[in-house]
Amino acid sequence: MLGVPGQINLDYAATAPCLKAAADAVTELLPWYGSVHRGAGALSQRCTLAYERARQTVGDFVGARADDYVIFTRNTTDALNLLAAALPEGTTVVTFAGEHHANLLPWHRAVRLPVPDSAGAAVRYLAAALAQVRRDSPDSPVLVAVTGASNVTGELWPVRELAVIARRFGARVAVDAAQLAPHTPIDLTELDVDYLALSGHKLYAPFGAGALIGRGDWLDAAEPYLAGGGATSGVGDATHDVRWNTGPARHEAGTPNLLGAVALAAVCATLEAADRDALHRREQLLLARLRAGLSTIPGVAELRTFEPAAPRIGVVSFAVQGRDSAEVAGYLAREHGIGVRDGLFCAHPLARRLLREAADRNRWTAAPGTALRASIGLGTTEADIDALITALAAL
Ligand code: PLP
Repeated sequence: MLGVPGQINLDYAATAPCLKAAADAVTELLPWYGSVHRGAGALSQRCTLAYERARQTVGDFVGARADDYVIFTRNTTDALNLLAAALPEGTTVVTFAGEHHANLLPWHRAVRLPVPDSAGAAVRYLAAALAQVRRDSPDSPVLVAVTGASNVTGELWPVRELAVIARRFGARVAVDAAQLAPHTPIDLTELDVDYLALSGHKLYAPFGAGALIGRGDWLDAAEPYLAGGGATSGVGDATHDVRWNTGPARHEAGTPNLLGAVALAAVCATLEAADRDALHRREQLLLARLRAGLSTIPGVAELRTFEPAAPRIGVVSFAVQGRDSAEVAGYLAREHGIGVRDGLFCAHPLARRLLREAADRNRWTAAPGTALRASIGLGTTEADIDALITALAAL
């Protein structure tokens, strides 16, 4: 793990530090720097091969089906916007108000379900909503877009159960795996979902590379996400005489982010080879320590959607009674070298609601306007957690 000594990073959910494997992969390829898909020379051939291998590795990492496409994007936001632009005409998208903005705002014709208070309620809401959608438009395409793990609460969403309901109503499923992928092995085939979006920079790889993985038919039928070189197999003299490629290239016009893709693949391969059960157990111990520590501090309230024992990844948001969260985050950084996130975490409807609920549960007279978030990852230690708890207690 790359990092700076003396800094306690508890902000993995925003952007995780780079794994050394990512840096090594980039360093190894740099002398071979050449064009991708655009040259006959040895450098270009090697870069093209590295790019296509990266595609395969990322697909394998999430259990993609043999005929799924892996399209490299800039990040999860880009991947979900690509999918939104590729939906067939008249597609209804069903999502929840608990989503990150990246999975809330790109959809044009959307049904937004209320934030459920349990995984079971999420499944029931979806079943009722899909029944209604099917009554209104029996044959139109429907997509259910849901997060795998919340960036606000860390809670895991019941993706497999939601997919079962979606299938019953002939709907497809897209999973926002921005937070899930860094913490939990994913098997798209086993989950029976159609699309998955992730960001390299949350997965221990550098900024600027993410992926949309999933079924090719809608993607091949859609207008290219970007128009330009690489997306076409031929352009005639007349203005509209263009033959667009099918496959991932259709949506990847322009010279791709080779180093980003290769670094992302290197991280995927490293995680794939790691003992992820052991990593999970370690993370859960740190998470339990963090939550237990926060619960001992008067005036600190955790935000949650589901019941306290619901399964979750190492992300905890909390409010401090009577304190401005930006002020608290500034204090932690200045006085203790601790980095956390503050605000509404690009999930404004959810965060506002959870702040109100947390204030009500704790009988605070007013709900804070914003919250803090501590998130943990591969480099987090017990000492990091203890430092945060000690610093908050002192405040
Ligand atoms: N979805 C979730 C759950 C997230 O946490 C984030 C980022 O915080 C995103 C989507 C957007 O990711 P990116 O900013 O990498 O596009």
